[in-house]
Amino acid sequence: MKKMILSVDTGIDDALAIAYAVGQKEMELIGITVSYGMSTVENTYRNTKKFARLIGSEVPVYMGSALPIERPGRDYRTAGSHIHGSDGMGNMYGEHVPEDIEGAVAEEAIDYIIESIHKYKKDLVLVTTGPMTDLAKVIRKDPGVLDEVGAIYSMVGALAAPGNVNPYKEANAGMDPEAVKLVLESNPPLTVIGLDVTRKTLMSFEDLKRWQEIGTERADFLAKCVDYYLEAYRVWHPYLKGCALHDPLAVGAALHPEWIRTIPMHMTCVTEGEADGRTCEDLAKCDDRDYRSCGAFFVDNKVFEAHFFAVVEQVLREGR
Ligand code: CA
Repeated sequence: MKKMILSVDTGIDDALAIAYAVGQKEMELIGITVSYGMSTVENTYRNTKKFARLIGSEVPVYMGSALPIERPGRDYRTAGSHIHGSDGMGNMYGEHVPEDIEGAVAEEAIDYIIESIHKYKKDLVLVTTGPMTDLAKVIRKDPGVLDEVGAIYSMVGALAAPGNVNPYKEANAGMDPEAVKLVLESNPPLTVIGLDVTRKTLMSFEDLKRWQEIGTERADFLAKCVDYYLEAYRVWHPYLKGCALHDPLAVGAALHPEWIRTIPMHMTCVTEGEADGRTCEDLAKCDDRDYRSCGAFFVDNKVFEAHFFAVVEQVLREGR
């Protein structure tokens, strides 16, 4: 059975991706790494571990980066808090306390990812649903390591679709454009699961209602988080009839690559000017046909959504 490492920045849709990855039976989830992103790394680490335990998973959780590789950090009292709450979990958990991060070692995620790739090689699939900071640090520390990994699926960027932070910028890419540039230009075996496909997936208020009726502590908790997220989407992204399943789709594509259609391409990320944070084709490699990366442009969303809801609802009813 293939092994999966999930790299998150939890985040409400990361929590959905965690529930999906924990509940599926097609790959073995061997570890979760967590960087800053939807809140401080202390909060996202706490969110991830606490949520994984709530749904009955004892999967090891490793702490990643606290800041982008070059840029200053954000002020989480304001940045992004209208979508995920200032704690990353719709304000369900609040600010972390020291016990929440007991045993965590700063940036232990980098070595964990490197060691796991060397150990499992092509049997390992890496799924990322947050900033690319940790992956950039993995490449800096062990430049050839991604040659060995089976595959990488990353929720990042917007290749043809408009961004969700501004017309150019998708949120994960926008948090650390230098890291995204470094990762994409290294031409890893990576599939960009960007807004081009994630916006085609949907969780609606009707889906939420089913979760609210399950009646377990796990289901009540996640339903409250998603309720916060759906309300934010109703205000900020009213063109969707619910919320997009951004992060869960990266897990889905890793499990079932046949659900998406991709185009091989060399990609980069703009790091300055008006288009700062934009992911796009790397024109410097126009005549280079040695592609290992690709962008996803189509998703069989109905098949994915049916699988996602079946797996997650099972977890919410019965736990892992
Ligand atoms: Ca995320």
